[in-house]
Amino acid sequence: MRLVKLDFHVHSNVSDGHFSPEGVLELALRHRLRLLAITDHDAIEGFDRAESRLAERRAAGDDVGELAMLAGVEFSTSLAGDEVHILGYFPRGVPAVVRSFLVEAEHARTGRIREAVETLTRLGYPVKYEEVKRQSPGRTIGRSHLARAMVESGIAMTTADAFRRFLATERGIVPASKSKAEDVVRLIVEHEGLAVLAHPYVEKSDAQVRALVPHGLGGLELYGKKRRGVDQLYLEALAAAHGLVGSAGTDWHGKGKVADFEGLSIGKDKIGPFLEKLGLS
Ligand code: AMP
Ligand code: ZN
Ligand code: FE
Ligand code: FE
Repeated sequence: MRLVKLDFHVHSNVSDGHFSPEGVLELALRHRLRLLAITDHDAIEGFDRAESRLAERRAAGDDVGELAMLAGVEFSTSLAGDEVHILGYFPRGVPAVVRSFLVEAEHARTGRIREAVETLTRLGYPVKYEEVKRQSPGRTIGRSHLARAMVESGIAMTTADAFRRFLATERGIVPASKSKAEDVVRLIVEHEGLAVLAHPYVEKSDAQVRALVPHGLGGLELYGKKRRGVDQLYLEALAAAHGLVGSAGTDWHGKGKVADFEGLSIGKDKIGPFLEKLGLS
């Protein structure tokens, strides 16, 4: 069976990853990936920067193998009171309407974190917005940066501890995204994009897929580091029942600044329909 090396879900420090977009690109080149999508939270700058670096490297005659980049964004949304991440892929580039949507989303993120900082301070855990901002060299700010600031100031032991005690959605300290998943899916498909439900949570996946397919959901993220066994089979059946293609991605963030990125090797039989739908095969 023919394997393709790729990754359609990776974060850079434009959002909450630890590596710059150019750094992620170098790792993808080192591991000879065929296809790469940098999918930052509510931001496209990571793709823009890595893609122009790839073009420069290619123009300079460097060995960049067969690597091609796909434009992608991981949109933060809400659906029936749950936090849902929607991956949007734009094989023909990111239209201006989507870019303006992202500028708004970026402002909304700043607002969410400012509110959370105020709430935490009122609860007796003083954090300053500037300290959170210092954890974020890129465009978008989020809970990961707040978690890192809370570790630095001694409020939490680890970022996982910060999420468990304060930042998990159900704690209600960080306001949920005001973007509705249905609207985001429609925005993507109306602009020649493919909308994919990221890291589906098995227990909620059936209801979420039923809610989003009528709006144009086209795929489910089926293949990654964590999805295995029965869960994987269940999600494959769910995708098949609704005519959804399966995507593949690691959701790599470069945890602890470790350069352990290597993408995924996946059979053409599994990823073929996704590639075809995007005109990439
Ligand atoms: P935000 O974009 O501000 O809603 O934050 C969402 C991001 O926070 C996720 O994509 C992960 O990168 C990170 N995250 C969510 N839950 C946890 C957790 N329990 N531990 C560490 N990081 C988390
Ligand atoms: Zn993240
Ligand atoms: Fe996510
Ligand atoms: Fe992600």
